Amino acid sequence: MLKAKNISKTYPGEDYGAVIDVSLNLAENEILALVGMSGSGKSTMLQIIAGLMKPDQGSIQFKDEHLVNPEEQLIAGHPKIKIVFQDFQLKPNMTVEENVRYKLLQFDKVYQTERTEELLSLCNLSEFASRKPKELSGGQKQRLSIARALADDPELLLMDEPFSNLDPITKQNLLIELVDIVKSEGLGLIFVTHDTRDAMLIADRVAFLSEGELIQNDTTRQTYNHPINLDIAQFFGRVNDVSEVTNEPNTYVRAEWLRLGDGFDFQFEVCIQKSIFLGDQYLLETIDEKTKEHYILFSREDMAAHQGKVLVGFNASEVLKF
Ligand code: ADP
Ligand code: MG
Repeated sequence: MLKAKNISKTYPGEDYGAVIDVSLNLAENEILALVGMSGSGKSTMLQIIAGLMKPDQGSIQFKDEHLVNPEEQLIAGHPKIKIVFQDFQLKPNMTVEENVRYKLLQFDKVYQTERTEELLSLCNLSEFASRKPKELSGGQKQRLSIARALADDPELLLMDEPFSNLDPITKQNLLIELVDIVKSEGLGLIFVTHDTRDAMLIADRVAFLSEGELIQNDTTRQTYNHPINLDIAQFFGRVNDVSEVTNEPNTYVRAEWLRLGDGFDFQFEVCIQKSIFLGDQYLLETIDEKTKEHYILFSREDMAAHQGKVLVGFNASEVLKF
């Protein structure tokens, strides 16, 4: 559906590119997460895809049509590409229902009513139809801004960290709802986030940006299990350096791949230093007394009272090598 080719952008007066030679594709109905640390170029890339910013180099094709950049047309952006902003951009004096209907004024009254009802229902807002935006919670406001974006009948939805102000449970629920909305409307979605759990919750694929460059572009599972470098591995969760154990340099295991007990391909003894309660599990800080290496793993049981050494291990199929 979308093909971005060799996109580069350097802001005026800057020495380094904000986006450097990035190429990425989006298939029909695909959800892509643009992930990376703060300043890695995610927002810049999204603005370029939205047609709101002109790249220095490269081109964007949307449904085999060249996307014109803001300097080539009066109204920025493609009518079928819609970006949802973090500040909602709602009409404060209109009700929830009017906020959506107002986007449909070019259609006849019957369709306006039908589509408004449909969108409010899709975004779980029907019961708040007569409220004003100030009477909505953050999550409800965000759902309304999504309903408004959908009223424009986009084929591709773009979102830049849209839920970062919400509490974790509301955010998670909204993300799951968002997948349903996007799939039921048959849309593509490009979603910017620095939270890898958000990405894994909803995305089919992750495009990982680092200092403006696209360094990995894979399914969430592949990115988690086979990150191409240590930076990406650590971005997705804590890893342990087990080079001493395997006698192979640059070998790592994820904290959750390292387990208590025996019967694993690799086995070694550690001393438990700390057992931290995390609710559903405990985080164990351990040390290997011979090598003085520290290891972190998770346990279902509180090991705080455990004196002396314990055996930990991992399997050869669950290692990361760089
Ligand atoms: P992200 O969204 O991943 O945090 P951005 O795309 O916002 O990254 O920024 C990428 C780089 O471009 C950063 O180094 C940032 O400081 C710089 N940058 C972003 N916007 C501007 C701007 N308007 N002018 C100059 N530099 C900018
Ligand atoms: Mg950003």
